[in-house]
Parts: sequence; structure tokens; C-alpha cells
Amino acid sequence: MLIGLCGAICAGKHAIAEYLIQHEGFQLLELATKPTQRITDEPDDDLRLQASEIRKNRDRKDRDGQSELVLDTPEDLLDFVTKRWQEKWVTTDIADGSTLDRFLLRPFFLLVSVDAPVSLRWKRFSDRCWRRQLDPPDLEKFVLWNDRHLYEKDIGRVYLTDRAQVRLFNSSSSLEDLHRALKTLDLADEQRLRPNWDQYFMQLASLAAQRSNCMKRRVGCVLVRERRVISTGYNGTPRHLPNCNEGGCPRCNRGDGGGVGLSTCLCLHAEENALLEAGRERIREGAILYCDTCPCLTCTVKITQVGISEVVYSQGYNMDSESAAILEAAGVNLRQFSPPSNGLIYL
Ligand SMILES: [Zn+2]
Ligand SMILES: [Zn+2]
Ligand SMILES: [Zn+2]
Repeated sequence: MLIGLCGAICAGKHAIAEYLIQHEGFQLLELATKPTQRITDEPDDDLRLQASEIRKNRDRKDRDGQSELVLDTPEDLLDFVTKRWQEKWVTTDIADGSTLDRFLLRPFFLLVSVDAPVSLRWKRFSDRCWRRQLDPPDLEKFVLWNDRHLYEKDIGRVYLTDRAQVRLFNSSSSLEDLHRALKTLDLADEQRLRPNWDQYFMQLASLAAQRSNCMKRRVGCVLVRERRVISTGYNGTPRHLPNCNEGGCPRCNRGDGGGVGLSTCLCLHAEENALLEAGRERIREGAILYCDTCPCLTCTVKITQVGISEVVYSQGYNMDSESAAILEAAGVNLRQFSPPSNGLIYL
């Protein structure tokens, strides 16, 4: 795999690259023309220094027999990794959106962004200046550099970090803390590159939920047999009736608490819609129902009757134990699967 690290000045991308190299068997790939050379103010000089520190560490390893891994262009870098994608590579040299577009097309590439509070990044930057016997900039100057680095038209980095598949927030105060957090996180887990079947179908269910117009709760469902989608469904009022959010279901629009007056609700549930769409004939033995919310009691009896073999849900609802009891009695397997969140991960 190839991990690309991007982020703000002193957010910690080089520290993370260094960790991956020292502890997880990654190798650093660099571009001969540093993206940072495109901006010539001081923080980027500092970034260059950080990169050369990593290179020094690498050089120490090079003496143990590894070759220098500097490539001329982003295309060279991609070609290089394409032939060796099962090894572990890391780079901090992704400079612009069009390079990133090409990288993101490859199934072995993972973009990881790193951020940290600006006051903490300024402190890290100042500490580094002190260590090198340089005068650190005041906070205001640092903030101005930072704004340029992140937001300047055409060269700002924010459009890179915005597209990261994994977004890290590195507020750790020491390298030990950072290393501990990274060890737990296991960035090199290949499932980050490609969702497994549970993730895949649950994400489809969540996508279906986005189509829902029910005022109470958006729910999505996918029916699967032999890893093929048979049908999908989301909750809402029946055909030819106004949508729930257009007043189609008076109960849902009344704003009573969850579960109140369920029997007067006109909205079909996501599971019901998926079951009706598939029909009993196509469901047969071995069908799995993925639903982003644990089925309610009335859906559970229908699921049982139609011959579903397994129910996988991601979030609980307010009658999970009753539903679980019915499914268990009927011999239908029930399990919870919550896909890994793709929000900000606090290290
Ligand atoms: Zn509704
Ligand atoms: Zn309703
Ligand atoms: Zn239901």
C-alpha cells in the first residue's frame, strides 16, 4: 500500500511518516522536486528540513543495504508502487489536486490528513526553532504563514486534506503519546483500502437511507444473497401518497416522541420496502438483510416469515431485545456491525 500524508505546518505528518518507517516497515518515497519548493517562505523551509531529517534516518538505513528512493515525477512514483504495491510505502510529497486525483484512482493508495490546533503547532514550530538556535516567529506571523499554506489560491493544502480517507487530529503532546495512538490505530490495516462485504453492504444501506423523507428517522436496508444485492429499500409513505416530509403521514409530522403512535404511521419501513421489492421467491435460503437500524417488532416478524437467514444492523433502536428474542426463537441470526467511522480520529 501507499500512504500519502498531508496536512498543516507542524501538524505531525513527518512524525507519522517516521513512525511508519521505524515501527511498521514502511519505506519513504520522495519526489526529486519537492512540492514545498513551490512556496519559499520559512515554514516550508522548515518542512524541507523535516523531510531531510527523515532522509538522514533513511540514509542510515541505506548503509544497511537499501537504495535511495527518490523519484522524478508523481507518475514515476505511481509506476514504482504499482509494481510493488504489496510492500508498504509512505510519502509526504503530494503537492496538488491533479496529482492527488491520479493517486486516488489507484486501489493501493490511502490519503491520510493530519491536523492539530494552531496554537499547538506554533508551539511545536517554536520548540524546533529553539533547538536549532533560531528565533521563533510570533504567533501572528505563524498564523499568517499557516493561512497561506492552507488557503492560498491554487497552492493551498486544504483541498488535499479535504479529500483524505482518514483524517487524524494530532493533539498529542509527546512522541510517545503519538506512537501509542498510532499503534492502536493501525493505519496499515488493508481494510482501509477496500471495504469488506459487511462494510460494503452496510454503506449501501446507509446510502439508501439518504433517500428517505420520513420525518421521524431515515432508515435504509439492503437485501443480499450470495453477495449479490437483491433489493434495497428506505422508509417513507406508499406510492402515490405525498411524501412523509410533505405531510403524507400525519403521525410522523406531529412531533410526538419516538415510538409513540406507531400503529397510526403510514410510512413503510425500509425493511418492508426491501422485502416487498424482492418478493419471497427471490429471497430464499441464505438471504441476509442489512439495515442501518435494528428492525422494529413488526418488521422482525415479516423478516422471520419470509425466510431471511441473517439480519445485520449497525445502530440500535428502542425495541432491540424484543426483536432479538423473536429472531432467536425463529433461528434467524442477528448481529451488529458498525462500519468504522470516517470522521475525525483524535490521536
Ligand atoms: Zn414518516
Ligand atoms: Zn409515519
Ligand atoms: Zn420496522
